Amino acid sequence: MSAPSTTARPPPPSLRKDSRIIIVGSGVFGISTALWLARAGYRDVTVLDMQDTAAAGYDPKAGIDSASADINKIVRFSYGSAVDYQRLASRAAAEWDEWNRQIAASTDLPRRFAGDRSRVWLNCGALRQSPTREMTEQELLTLKSMEQEGIRDRQFRTDDEADVERARRRGWAHKLDPCRRRERFGHHKAVLDSTAGFVVAYRGCDWARHMAQKLGVKFILDSRCGKAIDIGGADDGKPTVRTADGTVHKGDLVVVAGGGWTPSLLPEVDQLLETTGGSVAMIQIPRSRKDLWDRFAPENFPVIMEPGIYSFPRDENGIVKIGFRETKNLPELREFGISSTKLCWYTDSVDNSFLVDFVPGRGGKVAVCSGGSGHGFKFLPILGQEVVKILEGRGSATPYGRLWGWRSTSPPASAAVGDAKGKTRNGLGEGEAGPRVLSKLKMASPADWVFKSGADNRSSKL
Ligand SMILES: Cc1cc2nc3c(=O)[nH]c(=O)nc-3n(C[C@H](O)[C@H](O)[C@H](O)COP(=O)(O)OP(=O)(O)OC[C@H]3O[C@@H](n4cnc5c(N)ncnc54)[C@H](O)[C@@H]3O)c2cc1C
Repeated sequence: MSAPSTTARPPPPSLRKDSRIIIVGSGVFGISTALWLARAGYRDVTVLDMQDTAAAGYDPKAGIDSASADINKIVRFSYGSAVDYQRLASRAAAEWDEWNRQIAASTDLPRRFAGDRSRVWLNCGALRQSPTREMTEQELLTLKSMEQEGIRDRQFRTDDEADVERARRRGWAHKLDPCRRRERFGHHKAVLDSTAGFVVAYRGCDWARHMAQKLGVKFILDSRCGKAIDIGGADDGKPTVRTADGTVHKGDLVVVAGGGWTPSLLPEVDQLLETTGGSVAMIQIPRSRKDLWDRFAPENFPVIMEPGIYSFPRDENGIVKIGFRETKNLPELREFGISSTKLCWYTDSVDNSFLVDFVPGRGGKVAVCSGGSGHGFKFLPILGQEVVKILEGRGSATPYGRLWGWRSTSPPASAAVGDAKGKTRNGLGEGEAGPRVLSKLKMASPADWVFKSGADNRSSKL
């Protein structure tokens, strides 16, 4: 993977430990940055958000409408040949382990935890299923990268006897074909990653926010006082954030981490970032169905990933979440239908790599921290450590500073994440003339949530 082409960077700000730093957005990108700035000794960090993520504990059921506010998110290490992301995911997993230990031992939990010391990160494994009889090219690249990094022995190929035997010895064999694909379709090409799993997303964010607050980060979380409506500059050259209540917040550095709202706050990112919708459906397993309750528990069921669809084990309330771009299903759950759906906002970048850099033309005083591109959550515990290096002007000396730098909008020579070599990803640049504009799409209604029986579904698979 080559580093993206960059445009001339503005000079980095000369940050001091008492510099006033304002972060817009308390999702994964904003909160991780705030946490690591505080850990690095910055004493005057304020996070603004137009949603009260603290009071709601990032719970999507409490109405928080951001990508980070969710019941669960996948932690995976499979990145094809994008080894920098694979390494970062490994570092994040070590931190998630540490957070599990800290939460288990803590006598000072966030209020919304209500005393719950259970794990936020569950290493239940993730099964990467191939839709065909062959492994995908991306999968083969992933296995090669894992070999190179010395973590291949925790991957189990379903078509490799030695791998299957190793999975048996290590207690993972029951997760090799949980959808009974071999029996149903006569083939099952997949790799079970025993290092992967999922995190309880809203609790992870709330824990990060809680730790940042304890380290002195200030929060203004309010639909008026916390809502940025303009990122500008004062006469003395300092950057400003005007909020909906009319207050002008002056800082030494402003970091815009507004997720899907970032392009509306910073017009400069228009050609680099785009907000797109992702569909998520929930199926509720009743507690009375002990057979399915046990079958879909994380101890028995892995995260499942396949091009176009992914699903989780059930959560503590019996909810199985399925993210999809195609219609498929788990046949055992068909009788329950879909209990709810959610449209979740991705912030896709031109090449699926994050965008963390100073915004050209803003004097090195306004930075953007966004572009999660559907895979940013897992890095919550570690992302900010790399962001701080960039904000301190050391980005060009780090792999992530180079990877996430401001870049040209022309097609990259090689794709940063994924396999679309030489192509601009995600249809960026189609603009309002493109076919994917929300107003041009036909939305499903609850009547569409009922699964049909019979021939229509017989060929469906997950
Ligand atoms: C459907 C879906 C599934 C995903 N699944 C996974 C997964 O399984 N694993 C994984 O690793 N990643 C996953 N991701 C990606 C991950 O969720 C995102 O990369 C990450 O959560 C983005 O965080 P963020 O801070 O950039 O944005 P957000 O979480 O959207 O946070 C932005 C925050 O900024 C605030 N804000 C916006 N505008 C303003 C303003 N004007 N003033 C004040 N505040 C403002 C918002 O209120 C919000 O709190 C998924 C994303 C989606 C959409």
